[in-house]
Amino acid sequence: MANKGILVVAVSQRGKLPPATFELIAAGRGLADALKEPLAAVVLSDKTSALADDVASRGVDKVFAVEHPSLAGFTEEVFAKAAAAVASKEGYGKILLASNVAGRALAARLSVLLKAGLACDVAEIRPDGAATRPYFSGNLVCEVQFKTPVAVITLAPMAFPRAEAGPSKAEIVPVAFDPGATKTVFAGFVPESSNEIDMGSAERIVSGGRGLGSAEGFKPLFELAHALGAAVGASRAAVDSGWIAYKNQVGLTGRSVRPKLYIAVAISGQIQHLAGMSSSGTIVAVNTDKDCPLMQLANVSVQGDYAELIPLIAAEVKKRRGTSAA
Ligand SMILES: Cc1cc2nc3c(=O)[nH]c(=O)nc-3n(C[C@H](O)[C@H](O)[C@H](O)COP(=O)(O)OP(=O)(O)OC[C@H]3O[C@@H](n4cnc5c(N)ncnc54)[C@H](O)[C@@H]3O)c2cc1C
Repeated sequence: MANKGILVVAVSQRGKLPPATFELIAAGRGLADALKEPLAAVVLSDKTSALADDVASRGVDKVFAVEHPSLAGFTEEVFAKAAAAVASKEGYGKILLASNVAGRALAARLSVLLKAGLACDVAEIRPDGAATRPYFSGNLVCEVQFKTPVAVITLAPMAFPRAEAGPSKAEIVPVAFDPGATKTVFAGFVPESSNEIDMGSAERIVSGGRGLGSAEGFKPLFELAHALGAAVGASRAAVDSGWIAYKNQVGLTGRSVRPKLYIAVAISGQIQHLAGMSSSGTIVAVNTDKDCPLMQLANVSVQGDYAELIPLIAAEVKKRRGTSAA
């Protein structure tokens, strides 16, 4: 069978689909229309009914619902088997996944199972089949040409809009699945005790650097983040100093983020940090040094001591949200 069409892999996590799934659908829809090929999604869960309904209303042509108790908790092995079974049986040519932890892990396995080329953190897929992804703060754009009939692609977060639910519903096809013998089992999920927003899906991030001086220095940043509904990020210098966890690190050896708003506080903006955040929508820098790279890069640069400015900004945000919040 010729490999044609685009397949979005929708991975449920604790009964929900991450919002990145809807970015995949929007990207897939654009590509499918350009190529005049069908767009389908495969929903993987122990309970697919509501999830498949939701996906079916967001502009795909068909939904495959793979429901099995082994898909209750995420294991790469079982989810990859389920996605690969649908992709190979139906002969899809482009498999789209989110660039989150689960999506990347699945993408690697799927590329092996489907003997497919793999490109990660892609920001654009051209109708000629090439994928582009930025490196080094977008200073280098790499073009990936696939030599294989099937391409597995993870899409950079926030690079595409989210497909909205509409009145029309695509066909939902239930798919029987037997994971067979597996080497891994899902043992359990231990939620983080903090109520921090995860950076990967955050639309706003407040990030702190070495200029905060201590772990204590992050306190006003957390306060501002809570007021804004934002996640908290950090430079490597702050992480290496032990002021905040590695999972908060933004940059070359941390996480790549693309929020609508990135507020960099007391971060100088070395190239390794910029590599992880320079594609953000609006960048605000707060720094004592007006000439540092982040102040030069930012859309809004505020010169001054963070210890004075951040509490003032947080108070103003709270005041405005308090008066204007519906
Ligand atoms: C291989 C490699 C990988 C790396 N990966 C990463 C990575 O993933 N992420 C990353 O961030 N870095 C990474 N780095 C480190 C990077 O090169 C920088 O050292 C680091 O980003 C600097 O962090 P910073 O901006 O917080 O600190 P600094 O460069 O020391 O900047 C501190 C800033 O705080 C300002 N400041 C000081 N006091 C105040 C105040 N009171 N109020 C306001 N501003 C103030 C200063 O003016 C200064 O601009 C990597 C380096 C290497 C070699």
